Amino acid sequence: MNCPMENRDGPEILLAHAAGRLDRSRSAPIEEHIKICPACREFAAAQEAVWKALNAWEPAPLSPDFDRRLYARIDQEVSWWDLVLRPFRPLFVRQGLPVAAAAAVVIMAGVLLDRPAGMNPVPVPSTSANVQALAPDQADTTLQDMEMMRELNGLVHPEGADSKI
Ligand SMILES: [Zn+2]
Repeated sequence: MNCPMENRDGPEILLAHAAGRLDRSRSAPIEEHIKICPACREFAAAQEAVWKALNAWEPAPLSPDFDRRLYARIDQEVSWWDLVLRPFRPLFVRQGLPVAAAAAVVIMAGVLLDRPAGMNPVPVPSTSANVQALAPDQADTTLQDMEMMRELNGLVHPEGADSKI
């Protein structure tokens, strides 16, 4: 027979042969060919090794306390996050921030603390803006607003304007 490796679906036939899925009439000529063809012999040997390995493989039995150890591990992971986020918790509960934003604030805090002195702080992302103190320009605007209110109040009630606000 011709070498199956030279056919397009040759490897498929060799795989079927290795898996024992070919009937005797089809597998006999391949058996004969493998004896004389180094390429097919190598292919067949590799397949045989794979099949032997698969047959020999057995999943390791789970230890009796696998579940207990798994849950203990999960508890450990959770308490780690719990520990990190605990100082921020009242803030999140009040603000109703999702955990992702909470993590972002923690990371942001780390970044800010890591920065060498003299560098401008990173702009605060909008998700955590309401958690942070007012940005300088916002505080400025607020002060201007208050000043305007005071002046307005002074115009409306000229006497004792300062005591009204
Ligand atoms: Zn061959």
